[in-house]
Amino acid sequence: MPLTDTNPLCIGPRCGRGEPRQAADGTLICEVCTTRLCRDVEITPQLMRWLEQHKTPGQGGGDKVSGSQEAGTPTRLDVLSMLHDGATPIHGDDDDQIGPLSIPSTLKNWAWLIAEHRGLVYPERADVEELSAWLLRHLDWAAGQLWIDEMIGEVGALRRWAHGLAPWAVHVQELVGPCRSCGKRALVRTAGERYIECDAREVIGGCGALWTEEEYEQHVADLVGPYRRKPRKVGTKTK
Ligand SMILES: [Zn+2]
Ligand SMILES: [Zn+2]
Repeated sequence: MPLTDTNPLCIGPRCGRGEPRQAADGTLICEVCTTRLCRDVEITPQLMRWLEQHKTPGQGGGDKVSGSQEAGTPTRLDVLSMLHDGATPIHGDDDDQIGPLSIPSTLKNWAWLIAEHRGLVYPERADVEELSAWLLRHLDWAAGQLWIDEMIGEVGALRRWAHGLAPWAVHVQELVGPCRSCGKRALVRTAGERYIECDAREVIGGCGALWTEEEYEQHVADLVGPYRRKPRKVGTKTK
């Protein structure tokens, strides 16, 4: 490989909204896409627990109103299809067109592929919690594989679908501080998640970067520092 001072561009889906960042050393994806994949794999056991609480229509996520699952109790098939083995995407499909994906099956497929490529024992009996932990241990390696963009897309779709199916329970908070990377006020914090995300949806126009709480606080402190007397001034609109 010729020695250059620039790495190839990240192949993560929609990386940089059309202007991909540089891939991290020895991988095909940038740090933001790596962090995102990490988060999306890490959160799958949480998604399972949460969907489990929304199997019947109108369930608010807390304790069930009536105890037993009697015959005739309506269940949400879309939620069930994410919880049980079943639908996984056919490569290249647009996830919006195929409906909710099975969380266990999606993780199993990727674990199987990785085990196969690396000559490892496939964790056949693993549940979602174990699969998630197993996959996290192999993400560094996976980040250098040509199919990593598909893995990012599929695993990311699980989180989007789960949040879409039971949106009433998602607590999303818009933060006032700007993004460290693009400067836009597009940061959102989703309850229960480790990272604050710069909202890259078209309407918002953020850059998709992910920050820990500490990084966010530090950035805000840096900005506020010189103006501590009148913090309101910091709020001037970016562009
Ligand atoms: Zn990227
Ligand atoms: Zn940003």
